[in-house]
Amino acid sequence: MSMVWPCPLTVDAYASLGRAVRVPRPECPSCSSPVVFWSGYWRHVRRRERERKIFIPRVRCRACGVTHALLPAFVLVRRLDAAEPAGAVIGKVAGGACGVRRAAAAAGVPHTTARGWVRRFTARAGELAVSFSALAVELGGEAVRPQPDPLRSAVAAIGAAFTAAAGLPGWAALGRWRFACAVTGGSLLAASATSPFLIIGRRRFMPPRSSWRGRVP
Ligand SMILES: [Zn+2]
Repeated sequence: MSMVWPCPLTVDAYASLGRAVRVPRPECPSCSSPVVFWSGYWRHVRRRERERKIFIPRVRCRACGVTHALLPAFVLVRRLDAAEPAGAVIGKVAGGACGVRRAAAAAGVPHTTARGWVRRFTARAGELAVSFSALAVELGGEAVRPQPDPLRSAVAAIGAAFTAAAGLPGWAALGRWRFACAVTGGSLLAASATSPFLIIGRRRFMPPRSSWRGRVP
C-alpha cells in the first residue's frame, strides 16, 4: 500500500538526497496509530527524458503491522514519468491550447506517451471531476459547474480544489498536479483509484465517492 506526501522538492533535489531524504511521519491510514520507518526501496522516475533513481521510504504500523510506502507527490504509481509533465500535457489539451502532439513536444516526451496520458485521464475524467469538485467544496472552495467536455470538467475541478487547498499550509508551493497526484494516492493515471488520501498537516481528507466507501485503503 502506498501513501503520497506533499513533497515540495524538485525531482533532482529529492534524488540527490538518496536515502537521506526526510519524509514527514504519517499516522497509520487504517488505525491512526503511530508508525515507524521500516526500510524502503529504490525506483526510477523520468522527467524531461532523464531518469533518476529515488528512494521510497516505507513505514510500518505497530498496531496493525501493515507497511506503507511513502511516495513523494511527483511520483505516479506504476508510472515512470513524473506527475508534472503528464499534468502539463493534460492541462494544455483540455484547455484547447493545442493538440497532443504539440503538448508532447513542449513537455519533451514522445507523442505516444502523451497520448497514453490523455487517454487514461479522459477515461476517468467523469469520476475525477465529481471527486475533485466535492473536495473543492469540502475545503471551502467554489463548486465547479459541470461542463459538457469531461476532460475540461476534470481539469477545472482539480484547479478549483487546488485553489481551495492552497489556502492551507504547504500546498500552494506544490502546484495543482502534485496536489492532484497526492489526493489520488498517486493513481491519477491508474486504471482505478486505490488510496484516495489527501494529507494536509495532520488532517486527512477522503474525497467522497460512492465506490471508495467501504474499500479498505
Ligand atoms: Zn495501523
